[in-house]
Amino acid sequence: MTTLQNGHSKKPLDVAIVGGGLVGSLEALYLAKRGHRVRLYEYREDIRKTPQARGRSINLALSIRGRRALKDVGLEAHMIEQHGIPMVGRMIHRLDGSTYDIPYDARTNQCIYSVGRNYLNSLLLKESENYHNVERSFNHKLIEANLKKGSLTFLNTATKEEVNINADLIIGADGAFSAVRKAMMKQPLFDYSQKYIEHGYLELCIPADESGGFQMPASYLHIWPRGTFMMIALPNQDCSWTVTLFMPFENFKELDTEEKLIDFFEKYFPDSIPLIGRKRLIEDFFSGSPSPLVAVKCRPYNVDDKALIIGDAAHAVVPFYGQGMNAGFEDCTLLDQLFQKYNDNLADILTEFSSSRWRDTYAISDLAMYNYIEMRDLVTRPSYRLRKAFDDLMFWIFPNLWVPLYNSVTFTTMPYSQCVENRRWQNKVLFSIIILMVFIMIFCAFK
Ligand SMILES: Cc1cc2nc3c(=O)[nH]c(=O)nc-3n(C[C@H](O)[C@H](O)[C@H](O)COP(=O)(O)OP(=O)(O)OC[C@H]3O[C@@H](n4cnc5c(N)ncnc54)[C@H](O)[C@@H]3O)c2cc1C
Repeated sequence: MTTLQNGHSKKPLDVAIVGGGLVGSLEALYLAKRGHRVRLYEYREDIRKTPQARGRSINLALSIRGRRALKDVGLEAHMIEQHGIPMVGRMIHRLDGSTYDIPYDARTNQCIYSVGRNYLNSLLLKESENYHNVERSFNHKLIEANLKKGSLTFLNTATKEEVNINADLIIGADGAFSAVRKAMMKQPLFDYSQKYIEHGYLELCIPADESGGFQMPASYLHIWPRGTFMMIALPNQDCSWTVTLFMPFENFKELDTEEKLIDFFEKYFPDSIPLIGRKRLIEDFFSGSPSPLVAVKCRPYNVDDKALIIGDAAHAVVPFYGQGMNAGFEDCTLLDQLFQKYNDNLADILTEFSSSRWRDTYAISDLAMYNYIEMRDLVTRPSYRLRKAFDDLMFWIFPNLWVPLYNSVTFTTMPYSQCVENRRWQNKVLFSIIILMVFIMIFCAFK
C-alpha cells in the first residue's frame, strides 16, 4: 500500500509506458508523482549517451501548454531560465536580404522559447531517476501487444532476447508510427487517417560567429517565406541556428548538383549563404535527405481500461504551428487532471480522455496544415498584415474578448477547438463591420 498524491491509501497502479521520447518521459513523471509504479520502455539507446541524430528537429518551440506541464513536474523554471531562448516574434527575410519583424504579442510581449530536443528529453529522463517508482529500459522495441489483456512483448535489441510483461495500464507514447496504435487498429470502430504532405524538410546550420555569438538577432524565429516553400531558423544554446528548409520533394530532387544548389540559394535565400557558409551548405545539404511530414488523426485513444495512446502516437501533426510537443505535453496535464477527478479509476479516466480530447487534436492538426500556407506565403501579403494589425488593435482594446488566433493557441490553454470557434466568431464580427461600413458609405454617397 502507498499513500497516493490524492491522499488515498491504495495499491498503486502498474503502468507500462511504450516510448521514452518527450511525451512518454513526461508522462512517467506525472504518474510517478501520483505514486504509481512506472516502467518506461524505449526502443533507442539512452538519449543521454548518444549524440543528436539527424533527421529529427534539433530544437523546438516551447509555448504555454508545454510550459504548464513542465511546471507541474517542477522543470519549467530550469528550462525557461537556463535553457530556453525567447523568441518574441517572426523576423521575415525578404529576397533582397532586408528584414522586418512581426511581434507575436505586441500588447504584453509574450514569447515562445527555442529549446533543444535532446536536452529536454534528457532532462525529463534524468528527473525520473529521482523517483524510486520509475524503471527505465532502453533498447527495448515493442514487437507485440495484446492490449485487452494488458500484455506486451519487447525485443531487447542489445541482447536479442524477448521480454514479456503485463501491466494494469499500457500507455503508448511511441510516436507518429506507433506500434501500440497499430495494435489498437485491430479493434472494431477505430477511426484512422494519415496524410503525408507533398513537402519534406531538411536541416542545415548557421554556426556561431568567430567570437562565439549569434550571427542574427537571436530573439526571433527567422523565416524566409517564398510562396510554395520556405526556410526557417531557430536559435540554439551554443549561438548556432538550426535552419530548416521546407519544400516539395520534387524541388529537393531537382537540386542534384552543387551548382544547382548554390544557384537556388543565390536566387531565393541570398543572405543566408554567408551565414551558413558555402562549403558547409553544400556538405550539409548533400549529406542528408529530406524527411517526410505526416499528420495522423485517429480515435478512440483507449482500449477499455487497459490501454491509451498519447502524444504523436495519438495525433501527429505537421510542425507549422509549433504545437506537436506542446499538445502532447498537454495530453499529460489533462490526464493528470482526470486521474485526480476520478480518483485513479481507469475506466472513467480513459473514457473521458478519449471522448473529449479528439476534438482539440483534430483542430490543432487542421490549424497546423493551414499555418504552413500562412508562414510560407500569407505573411508577405498586405491583407495578412492588415488583418494582423486589426486583430492586434482589437486585442489591445478588448484583451479578454478579442484574443487573436495565434495568441489563443500559443499563449493560452484555451482548448484548441475553442480557439478555432473563437476565430470563426471574430471573422463573422469583422464581416459584419465591413458590411455595415459599406452600407454607411453608400448611404452617405446618396444622401
Ligand atoms: C521538423 C519538426 C519540427 C517540430 N517542431 C516543433 C515545435 O517547434 N514545437 C512543438 O511543440 N513540436 C514540434 N514538433 C513536433 C514534436 O517533435 C513532436 O510532437 C514530439 O516529438 C512528439 O513527442 P512523442 O514523445 O509523442 O513522440 P516521439 O518524440 O516520436 O517519441 C516517441 C518515442 O517512442 C520510441 N518508439 C517508437 N517505436 C517504439 C517501439 N516499437 N518500442 C519502443 N519505443 C518506441 C521512439 O524511439 C521515440 O523515442 C516538430 C516536429 C518536426 C518533425
